Amino acid sequence: MNIKLNNKLIKTTVAALALITTSATVAPTTVTNLTTVSAKAKKHHKKIKKTKRSKKKAYIIAKYYDEFKPGYSYTYNKKKGVFIGHKMKKHQTAITNSDEPKIEKANSTYNVPKVTKFTDEIRNQYHIKDYRWAKTTITYNYNNVNENQQKIINQAINQINQLNIINLKKITKNADITIEMSTTNLSRAGYTTGPVSIEDNSLNINLIEKQTVTLYENQIQAHCYGNYNLYLNQVALHEIGHALGLEHNEQNKYEIMAPISDVRKVNTIDSTHVAIDQDYINGLAILYQN
Ligand SMILES: [Zn+2]
Repeated sequence: MNIKLNNKLIKTTVAALALITTSATVAPTTVTNLTTVSAKAKKHHKKIKKTKRSKKKAYIIAKYYDEFKPGYSYTYNKKKGVFIGHKMKKHQTAITNSDEPKIEKANSTYNVPKVTKFTDEIRNQYHIKDYRWAKTTITYNYNNVNENQQKIINQAINQINQLNIINLKKITKNADITIEMSTTNLSRAGYTTGPVSIEDNSLNINLIEKQTVTLYENQIQAHCYGNYNLYLNQVALHEIGHALGLEHNEQNKYEIMAPISDVRKVNTIDSTHVAIDQDYINGLAILYQN
């Protein structure tokens, strides 16, 4: 479940995009009769120009993180073994108030602080990433997951839905989260990745666009200690946790978001279900109640 690679990828994407935001802000705008145009109208002009310029679509390929170019959002293509970078739409990095995305808040009432800004301190305390979905109803679908595995993962998703913070909804295609089972034998049980758009909103939180959760059958079999259903439940909870914005919890190695966990030592509610711990709940609550 170690997703160091994923963390690095996301952070690199974030850093690269930050450059574009900065240069877009300081770039001179060629608008005639500037003196008679109000500040608001200027912003409006700038926005239209940006939208016009961002029409063309392009993608580039990178083999390593350090080849990432600013202004591109990268996802890893396993078949080709390369990162594919798609040009980000410029309006996603615009900084005017009118462009500020609407962030839907969960109605749940878990006892977490009201946040006016997601600071590093809060992120570290609650083990959360610097991004979340803008909405609280998030769709998912399966790719290459058999019926029995789907049943187990659906139960994990039900456990998350029962927290009443976010609502994961199964659809057949074009879902927000794609959950796939891989037979590639890597040294991890799961891996979660996807593009995040960089936002300059007052909450200081970026927004997830899509996520792909890959579960590795070989490793789940190898480390389940005879209880495949329980371990798949645990790995699904962990990876979907990442897909919703949860970061690793390095302090407690028996909780769901521990980077490496032992299925024999986690708290369970029965023989096939891990108990969702308070750290996991608080992470989702602080992300989505705010
Ligand atoms: Zn992880």
